[in-house]
Amino acid sequence: MASYDDHAEARERMVREQLMPAGRGINDGRVIEAMRQVPRHLFVPPQLQAAAYDDRPLPIGGGQTISQPYVVALMTQLLKIQPTHRVLEIGTGCGYQAAVLTHMAAEVFSVEVRAELSREAAVVLKRCAPQAQLRVGDGWQGWKEHAPYDRIMVTCAPETIPPELVYQLAEDGRMLLPVGPEHSIQQLQLIHKHDGVIETQTLDAVRFVPMVAG
Ligand code: SAH
Repeated sequence: MASYDDHAEARERMVREQLMPAGRGINDGRVIEAMRQVPRHLFVPPQLQAAAYDDRPLPIGGGQTISQPYVVALMTQLLKIQPTHRVLEIGTGCGYQAAVLTHMAAEVFSVEVRAELSREAAVVLKRCAPQAQLRVGDGWQGWKEHAPYDRIMVTCAPETIPPELVYQLAEDGRMLLPVGPEHSIQQLQLIHKHDGVIETQTLDAVRFVPMVAG
C-alpha cells in the first residue's frame, strides 16, 4: 500500500509549478499549506499514482474525475474559508477536495450520489482526514440536518442553481458552483447571501461532470 509520505517531492513541485506562479495566482497561505499536506496519490486508482501530481484531471472510475490540482486550489481559495467554518461539499468523488477542505475549516460534510465512490472515499479519508463526514444521497437536496453552512462547494454541474442549497447557506455564507448544460462549458458562479439577499457573481468557464438526479 502506498504510504502517506510517498511523493512528497512531486507534491512540493506541484505547489511551486502549478499553483504559485503569477499566471495561476494561488496565494492564500492556508490553501497552499493544505495542498502541500494532502496526499493526492492516495485518492487516485493505483495504476495512476505516478500521474497523481500532474497538471490535469484524472479518471477515478465510473466516468467520474478527480479535478486538476489547480482547480481544487482555485475553488478552495475563491470560497475564503475560515478555520471556524462549517462547509458542505456536493460531489465527494474520490474525497480529495473534501480532504483539502478539512485542512481549511472546522467541519466538513460531503454528499455523493454514487454509493460505491462514497465507500471508497471513506476508506482513504479515514486515514488522512477522519473528521470529514460523508453521506450517500442526492446533493440537489443538500444535507438538511447540519445546515446552515458557512460555505458550500459543488463539484458537479447542475443546469440551474439548486434552491435547497441556497436555502441551507448561512447568513453571510458563500457558495461556489459550476452551472450549465451537460455537454457544454459551464460557468463558475459565486453566490453570497447577505441580509437574506442573494448576490450572484459569474466567474470563469469550467468543465465539470453533470449533477445527476438522485
Ligand atoms: N470533489 C471530487 C470531484 C468529484 S467529480 C474530488 O475531489 O474528487 C463529481 C462528483 O459528483 C462525482 O463523484 C459524481 O458522482 C458526483 N455527483 C453527480 N451528481 C450528484 C448529485 N446529484 N449529488 C451528489 N453527488 C453527485
